[in-house]
Amino acid sequence: MGMVSSNGSKKNYKISRKSRVKKKNLAQIRLRQFSIVVFLFVLGVCLLSLYKMIFLPRIVLEGESVVEVPYLGKYKEDGYLSSYQGKDITSKVKVKGKVNYKKIGEYTITYEVSYHGRKSSKTRVIKVVDNKKPKITFTGDNKKLYVCPNTKYLFDDYQAVDDYDGDITNKVKVDEEENRMRYEVKDSSGNKTVKYRKVFYKDIEGPKLTLDDSLTVMLVVGDEFKDSTYQVEDNCSSAKDIKVTISGKVDTSKAGEYERVYKAKDKYGNVTKVVQKISVMEPSKQGVIYLTFDDGPRSGTTDIILNVLKEKGVKATFFVTNSGPDDLIKRAYDEGHSIGLHTASHDYSVVYKSVDSYFNDLKAVSDRVYRITGEKSMLIRFPGGSSNTISKRYSVGIMSTLTKEVLNRGYRYYDWNVDSRDAEGGKFSADEIASFVTSNLSHDRVNMVLMHDIKVTTKDAIGKIIDYGKANGYRFEAITNYTDMVTQRVNN
Ligand code: ZN
Repeated sequence: MGMVSSNGSKKNYKISRKSRVKKKNLAQIRLRQFSIVVFLFVLGVCLLSLYKMIFLPRIVLEGESVVEVPYLGKYKEDGYLSSYQGKDITSKVKVKGKVNYKKIGEYTITYEVSYHGRKSSKTRVIKVVDNKKPKITFTGDNKKLYVCPNTKYLFDDYQAVDDYDGDITNKVKVDEEENRMRYEVKDSSGNKTVKYRKVFYKDIEGPKLTLDDSLTVMLVVGDEFKDSTYQVEDNCSSAKDIKVTISGKVDTSKAGEYERVYKAKDKYGNVTKVVQKISVMEPSKQGVIYLTFDDGPRSGTTDIILNVLKEKGVKATFFVTNSGPDDLIKRAYDEGHSIGLHTASHDYSVVYKSVDSYFNDLKAVSDRVYRITGEKSMLIRFPGGSSNTISKRYSVGIMSTLTKEVLNRGYRYYDWNVDSRDAEGGKFSADEIASFVTSNLSHDRVNMVLMHDIKVTTKDAIGKIIDYGKANGYRFEAITNYTDMVTQRVNN
């Protein structure tokens, strides 16, 4: 049995050895076959390439074959070359394909060349991508967030905008971390923006107090003064928790400048101050004549007018410009006349171009007067008067704004109710001018007389006007800061 068994196992061994050899041969054969296939394939590819190289036109792209371009950007062609058997045929290449830079995506540009019926092509991929981060902006402070004490953050003071997705405010995730708020937003392309703000549960804003009346009030001696009613509101306190105190003395029995100060204090101690300015003017003096001269000074006329005024002992008002000699303004001021502000340029297209332009011009003449007299004049005469319509040409509605704004800035303006007509192109003689004035005087009102000290006829008329006034019981005065305003109706 042992033999059999040993024979048997020997036999088995032989068989298995034989089959292993067989298997080995088979593997070798398969490898050889595979090598041949690979060889033939490589040969085929080589031959094809060779064929292409020799018999098809060649295209070479410069730059990358895949290019990323930002959204709304533009791909600038990197260039290409084409040849056929050594001959440059680049000019025959046709570039096809469109890229929509307004839409994220992949776009293919095809470069095709055809030469004697043989065609080649290559492609380049343009990827339009959004690689810009979205922006988070805050209504208030960028770094600090103040939330009213004992209230919750309202999540209403930020905005997120992406150049591609547009408004993505609703995608903002807000988390409160220790002492700070974290804002995170991602656009559809995965670009992420994170911002932080420190949180304070504190009220730092004062209440808003609005007077129902103007911030500048003009009264006449003897008028009654009443405090203005007002509205208050606050970010953190209710109106009933806001305390308002009013201080400052107003004495309407005396001409002068007064202030009423309105102070509003919220629940958390923040204070807002609003100042109302009250000018108490002298009562209008019936029967008084205010001689007013515009457009000067001018050598040869203003000086003669000053001589006449001096000789007759009369004070007048000069609304000056930036022309003429300084010393005539100095002399008028020194001799007790009032210096008012007319305009620096007297160019309507400059003066009435805009509110800013008006005040720039006014500042120029104001600076001149201050430099010469050492006193800041608060008296204004608008070029053309406040009722002028010529300003409409340069700025619609400007007189309505200016007549209020000059008062807000502490000035007074004076129009006229008696026109000497001396500015009407030298049409009238000195006698006529004098009679235009004298025939319009009245004992029942203030007489604000418009004249121009640059006119030759005016200097000759002035003596006659003064003589008439004196003979008929009128008084002559210069305008002061408390002379009640004489104003015309605003038409623009
Ligand atoms: Zn003028």
